[in-house]
Order: sequence, then structure tokens, then C-alpha cells
Amino acid sequence: MKKLIAANWKMNGQADWSDKPAQLSTILDGTIPKTAQVLICPPSVYLTQIADNAHKYGMNAGAQNCHSAESGAFTGEISAQMAADCHADYVICGHSERRAMFGDTDAVVQAKATSVIQSAMVAIICVGETLEQRESGAANSTVEAQLRASIPEASTALNTVIAYEPVWAIGTGKTATLDDIEKMHAHIRSVYHDMFGARSAKDLCIQYGGSVKPSNAKDILSTKGVDGALVGGASLKMEDFAKIILAA
Ligand code: PEP
Repeated sequence: MKKLIAANWKMNGQADWSDKPAQLSTILDGTIPKTAQVLICPPSVYLTQIADNAHKYGMNAGAQNCHSAESGAFTGEISAQMAADCHADYVICGHSERRAMFGDTDAVVQAKATSVIQSAMVAIICVGETLEQRESGAANSTVEAQLRASIPEASTALNTVIAYEPVWAIGTGKTATLDDIEKMHAHIRSVYHDMFGARSAKDLCIQYGGSVKPSNAKDILSTKGVDGALVGGASLKMEDFAKIILAA
């Protein structure tokens, strides 16, 4: 399986960032390594431009969020189909910042991921424990509860990616140990196995996210059970993001 290396730009960027896929391609000498699949998730107002340019250079594009409804009185929101209309291939669902700041409960995340799948895109469902939960020994049970309540019934390894992002590692410079990452990815795969069967679990892409950077990417990406990375801060500089892609 190719490693899925995804950039989550969060609320960063501006109109002229539409040439970032071209810049990234130039840094990579025009070739994405065969072992990597590259995904860029910009703010949704730039999605069409970024998606079209990403596709030109053999990359994918995604939205960072969507609403679960098809349409309606939801000021400021976009539907999954609108993201698809902007040529998105993926939508991130339930990022911890959305769970903490915008009321994305497991049920909301599940509804969003369902509409992403119905719109023929891939849902990247984010799960992860807080520092308090890890220190109290509740990391596995927290993540398991999130998985069971956030993954839609229609999930398959083709339409779903799980991103394991310990909340305390996002944007903090701290990363989980390789041992903790390996154990949690194995736990996630076994929960998915229990929910959807052996075949789907074997093929499921599980990304790690949380302060992935050029200096730790190789170790993290070669950890057993890690099928990719969801990258925030280090995806804003194409030189750094390219190094992470090359580490795959
Ligand atoms: C993220 O936003 O998903 C993330 C992992 O951020 P960072 O890489 O900055 O920790």
C-alpha cells in the first residue's frame, strides 16, 4: 500500500498558494515517489484551484470538513457534494480541533463521513486521546469508543481512512513514542476488524498525525501499521512537506 501523506493546511494560505502543487512537484523533481500518495487539504474557498493543480501533478486534494446535510439553512457550511463539486477526493472528518471547538461529536462525525462516502469521496476519520486520557490509561478505550461511534456502516477500506492523532501531539512538537504509535495502530486495526472483517482491516489505511516533521517522518512512517501521515504545521512549507513525502 502506498503511504498516504496528507497536508492539512487548517486556516492558512491565500489565493496565490494555488501554485503550491507546482512548487512541490518542482522540489520533487517532477516525480512523486512510487511509495507515496500525496494529498493537499486547503481551506475550502481555495479547493477548486488547489484540486485542479494537484491533479495536474499527480496529487489528490481534500476538504478539511463538511456538513452532513445535502443543503439547507446552515450559514457558512459546505456539503460533501459541494466539496466533490470542487473536485475534492477526500474530506477530513472529526479533526480534534473540530471536535474540541466546533461541537463535532462522534455522531456528527459519523453523519459527515456518511455524506462524504455517499458523495463518492474518501472520509479521513480522525481519532485520538487527550493527554489526561493517556495518562489515566484510557487511550485505547477512548479511541475505540470514537471508532465505534464515528465510522459509518457503509465504511470500507476503499472509502475510509483512519487518522490516529493524539490530541496532545497536535501542533505541540511532541510526538507519541514509536512503540505507542505501533500499539495504537494495531488496536485501531483490530477494532476495525471486529466491525468490518479481516479483509477490510488488512487493507485499511491508518495514518499517524501529531507533529510529524522531516526529522521524525522516516521513523514514524516505517513503524509497523503506519500507512501514512496527516501533517499540519510542516505541510505549510513545501520544502519540509517534500522531505516527509520522500521519507515515505
Ligand atoms: C493536524 O492538524 O492534523 C496535525 C497533525 O498538526 P501538526 O502536524 O501541526 O501537529
